[in-house]
Amino acid sequence: MPVLKLPDGSRREVAVGARSRDVAESIGKRLAKDAVAAKVDGAVVDLDRELPDGEVSFAVLTPKDPEALEVLRHSCAHIMARAVMRLFPGVQLAFGPPTENGFYYDIESPTPITEADFPRIEEEMRKIIADAEPFERFERTTAEARGLVADLKQHYKVEHIDDDLKRYPSLSFYRQGEFIDLCRGPHIPHAGKVGAYKLLSIAGAYWKNDVTRKQLQRLYATAFFSQKELDAYLRQIEEAKKRDHRVLGKQLKLFTISQAVGSGLILWMPRGATVRGLLETFIKDELIKRGYQPVYTPHIGRLELYRTSGHFPYYRDAQFPPMFFHPLGQAVDTWLNLFDAKQLTEPAEKALLALVDEYVKATAVAESNDQKHQALALRAMWVNYQNAETPEGKAKALREWLDGQEAYLLKPMNCPHHIQIYKAEPRSYRDLPVRLAEFGTVYRFEQTGELSGLTRVRGFTQDDAHLFVTAEQIEEEVGANIDLVLFVLSSLGLSDYRVRVGLRAPDSSKYVGAAEDWDKAERTLVEVVKSRGMNYTAEQGEAAFYGPKIDFVVRDCIGREWQLGTVQLDYNLPKRFELEYIGKDNTPHRPVMIHRAPFGSVERFMGILIEHFAGAFPLW
Ligand SMILES: [Zn+2]
Ligand SMILES: [Zn+2]
Repeated sequence: MPVLKLPDGSRREVAVGARSRDVAESIGKRLAKDAVAAKVDGAVVDLDRELPDGEVSFAVLTPKDPEALEVLRHSCAHIMARAVMRLFPGVQLAFGPPTENGFYYDIESPTPITEADFPRIEEEMRKIIADAEPFERFERTTAEARGLVADLKQHYKVEHIDDDLKRYPSLSFYRQGEFIDLCRGPHIPHAGKVGAYKLLSIAGAYWKNDVTRKQLQRLYATAFFSQKELDAYLRQIEEAKKRDHRVLGKQLKLFTISQAVGSGLILWMPRGATVRGLLETFIKDELIKRGYQPVYTPHIGRLELYRTSGHFPYYRDAQFPPMFFHPLGQAVDTWLNLFDAKQLTEPAEKALLALVDEYVKATAVAESNDQKHQALALRAMWVNYQNAETPEGKAKALREWLDGQEAYLLKPMNCPHHIQIYKAEPRSYRDLPVRLAEFGTVYRFEQTGELSGLTRVRGFTQDDAHLFVTAEQIEEEVGANIDLVLFVLSSLGLSDYRVRVGLRAPDSSKYVGAAEDWDKAERTLVEVVKSRGMNYTAEQGEAAFYGPKIDFVVRDCIGREWQLGTVQLDYNLPKRFELEYIGKDNTPHRPVMIHRAPFGSVERFMGILIEHFAGAFPLW
């Protein structure tokens, strides 16, 4: 028998086979009317789905819940596709997911769709919504599902099943009138739930981002539960266009990006640099007043440092490749990476072995001892790799050689450098908290398509600081941090903000650090924001594996939300780097680290300020 834990903490037993819809009705007529979907043990499901046996958490989602809006928008993507198929015979459908502000559907149409077609597509959607037909879910075995999409002549869906979905025993579909789509769902109960919608634009897109394939058309649109919300959103995008920091930055000569230097690398022009300088000085002065010590560290660090911190190789996809001194360093690094990812093809392996072989031969006549030593090490790797009988043995041969190579990484984080400053002298409890602050520039390799103005870049300067504290000092230090953020935001005229407190997921073992420390730290973080009367949400499962955190989100004057930076507790790095201080009891203790960059990066924050003030900066 299903037992539901409701959001108010009460429990409710329901009959076997009961659906979320029945529960909503039994709670109240109003709720049943407003219900869009349900959330069962964290998963959003259709109102028509049967509830599982046993005890589950249960909530009815109404238009007030952000997750309900996502369900609405995905449903509206189906409605749009249905309208397009009525008007453009022979349309092939690819993917149609919800996005942050709306949804899209990728389609291939024998007659290309243009923006001039939007009114008649919207008119067709209006009819579908007025009919308010239900979204009906049904399942088929995967083989039957393949047959069904083939009958529907949807060849992208056939390919999707063949490439990605074969491992599932069955697949689900949603039917709405004559329209059937392969879909995981969930969906709104019927089309009438869509209050307002609008087609926005068309762009080119490739099937699964594969540029070798035929280009599809991506139809962007949005939907809301009410016309009022849609109107507000459309006003907001109009206003946002006028304030776009990429346009204003150019007009006002604040910053530029040059392909000669590289994508995503910001060049601050004199006027922008002046504004940035004022902002930095303002924050730096505040930090010094509040007991921080400024430090400077270089832009690179030895690869070994990031192996210790764990930033390499785990986040390598988001980093610029490491710089090896040995000419084959990067080749072997790539080799190991492909090997670990099980993507090393036989021809690639052969070519890499041949490359090493050639190199060993060419350097066999080396002059200096150092060169001879290097040639021997490389030869040893080559022999060990080929003699290894297991994949682990092969990987070990590559890894051993790489570990002996001198290499550097553009720093993806400032923490390991600051940790070395902490470790440069013996610390006693009397020294703590140690607060090291730096406007530290870090580098991340964002994909080209992700880059945008000042907000998505490949090099940025964090308003970073690391605090090394005792467990008893966490509360005071986190509180002081929040006070600083509030002070800076209010000084800059950003008065609308909220915070998210990221907590552990219940019953997960992925977290480092003692459970009782976490319990205390989580309580502390919530206490700190509560006691300041801040608008906050506490979200389970949003903590980093190394500690709970607080994220800051500001709302600008046209109502858009921007995620700024964070304050994070960390039990992991102090352990990895064996950090210590001598306690009152004269024995070594481990400090807790707090990473904090409340404004995230100077680049991003400036981008937000430019848009907030529409380029008309106040006199600070
Ligand atoms: Zn769908
Ligand atoms: Zn850090």
